Amino acid sequence: MPNNENSGILIYAQLTREEYIHTVFFELLDKAKDLSQKLGGVDVNAVFISRNGLINSFKESFQNMGVNKVYYFEDDNLKNYSTEYYSKLIVDLVGVIKPEILLIGATNQGRDLAPRIAASLGTGLTADCIDLDINEKGQLAATRPTFGGQLMATILCKNYPQMATVRPNVFKVHSVDDKVETEFVSCPVNISYVKNSVELLEFKKTVETLINDLDSAEIIVAGGKGLKNQKGFELLKRFADSIGGTVAATRGAIEMGLAPASIQVGQTGKTVHPKIYIACGISGAVQHTVGMTGSEHIIAINNDENAPIFEIADTGIVGDFFDVVPEYLETNT
Ligand SMILES: Cc1cc2nc3c(=O)[nH]c(=O)nc-3n(C[C@H](O)[C@H](O)[C@H](O)COP(=O)(O)OP(=O)(O)OC[C@H]3O[C@@H](n4cnc5c(N)ncnc54)[C@H](O)[C@@H]3O)c2cc1C
Repeated sequence: MPNNENSGILIYAQLTREEYIHTVFFELLDKAKDLSQKLGGVDVNAVFISRNGLINSFKESFQNMGVNKVYYFEDDNLKNYSTEYYSKLIVDLVGVIKPEILLIGATNQGRDLAPRIAASLGTGLTADCIDLDINEKGQLAATRPTFGGQLMATILCKNYPQMATVRPNVFKVHSVDDKVETEFVSCPVNISYVKNSVELLEFKKTVETLINDLDSAEIIVAGGKGLKNQKGFELLKRFADSIGGTVAATRGAIEMGLAPASIQVGQTGKTVHPKIYIACGISGAVQHTVGMTGSEHIIAINNDENAPIFEIADTGIVGDFFDVVPEYLETNT
């Protein structure tokens, strides 16, 4: 499908509540540069939405990161994320600059924003992709799990922009010095007639958000149904503490009430890539492994030598978790 009118890749540069650029933007940017090469070196641009004055703090970063153009909307009414305002502004921008591809991080915010933009533009959206590529016809080939994670489907979009969301931590950032002369384009904030039906009264972090830091953990110690009960998870926690690890869980363990859903790794949980991932009492179902195969070194402890987790583990320990871990703690703490 030749595309004469649309060009460039646009990435939504989401801000966190603490006013940092979300790490998923850097991950998407890295991938977008690959895609750009395959499209003959099209521009890789960003859209940035914030309260007044914030863009100045990020100008140098955008330049160092090699972003060709940054389209920014600044207004104090945009300080807090608003589905209505943000989607309207991005839809308007897309109508003017006509990007070939629009990428958004599949964060809570991105999952809210992307479908609304896609619906307004009458284009398709491939959500929660695990890979992005350009096919021989120059189309975005977006791969995501389907049929409950049993198959990987590569999806093409017939309309423009071709939209995709990708969860944080799916792509790695290869930090290379890529400085360019970024052009900063101030865009008019036409939102006076947009009905903003949600007002943010207060933002409260849940205890789970505060204690769980899987995204940046270097060592993750994950428990599955093989841990059997709360005692098993308490042992897992002691083990994790002893090696400076962060606890994660399978959906199986969460469904047994052993761990909160916020620490689920996998297709419908988080995607992680720590330096070390220790899978304890986890069978290795594809819906789980899709969220952790990017780990640098995988260690599995399982009492079944035929458990599929051993097929992806770098180090495998065939044994009972309730024997192996206490023995480790006794010898090493
Ligand atoms: C649409 C969909 C989405 C899903 N999303 C996710 C997801 O995001 N994340 C996820 O994790 N799952 C997900 N699942 C569920 C997934 O298919 C598996 O059911 C789940 O991952 C299995 O969890 P588990 O490995 O803890 O349990 P099991 O598969 O029951 O494995 C338990 C393992 O523990 C071992 N074991 C038992 N006792 C011991 C012992 N004493 N010591 C050592 N090892 C022991 C057993 O040999 C076994 O291998 C999803 C499923 C569907 C259909």
